[in-house]
Amino acid sequence: MAQGILIVVSGPSGTGKGTICRELLRNNPHLKYSISATTRQPREGEIDGVNYLFITKEKFKSMIVADDLLEWAEVYGNFYGTPRHYVLEQLNKGFDIVLEIDTQGAMKVKEKFPDGVYIYIIPPSLDELADRIFKRGTDSLDVIKKRLNCASSELSLAQNYHYIVVNDQVTAAVQKIETIIAAEKLKAERNTTLIDHLYQAGYIDKKAFNM
Ligand code: 5GP
Repeated sequence: MAQGILIVVSGPSGTGKGTICRELLRNNPHLKYSISATTRQPREGEIDGVNYLFITKEKFKSMIVADDLLEWAEVYGNFYGTPRHYVLEQLNKGFDIVLEIDTQGAMKVKEKFPDGVYIYIIPPSLDELADRIFKRGTDSLDVIKKRLNCASSELSLAQNYHYIVVNDQVTAAVQKIETIIAAEKLKAERNTTLIDHLYQAGYIDKKAFNM
């Protein structure tokens, strides 16, 4: 069975990537979602085991030591990490899985999974971004300032991703990501059985597809 596709979604804080991922997963129930572990306090309405695995710093450290995290990073003073086992298990079962993680984590994952799909979500403008973070109303003024500063410098990181999606409208952004995933699934190098048949029949040279 073909391996699933690892899909990494990043973007500056307040770009709406959380909303986009939620909508994407709602529309595509076959997609899996990697629930990150974090030492951050839950925000109102967030549920342990659904939005995040909310854990202590001690537990987080023990997960690092046990090599239970595929990647981890410190973001705005809190630790966030991707539990390794679930991601590998889903990929091996042939399921596509979405990781919504920051750029530091995304680059670590990219080194390990260069054939993953790396998508960067950007806001239509920085003004709009500030507006969204304020309206969300979940962070203190200090944290908002930190997030905005990081966001403008994070825009340059878009160049490390395969796709850049502007979130001017959630439904449209979700559709763009669905299109990306559909196209990725059709890539020749992901369709090894088809390539094998064409090769065995003498039509193609596998080297052309790095296989
Ligand atoms: P928030 O606190 O707003 O939920 O997330 C803050 C940042 O941490 C976001 O950029 C989010 O994508 C990132 N993040 C969430 N989970 C992970 C993770 O497992 N690993 C890394 N590296 N970043 C994460």
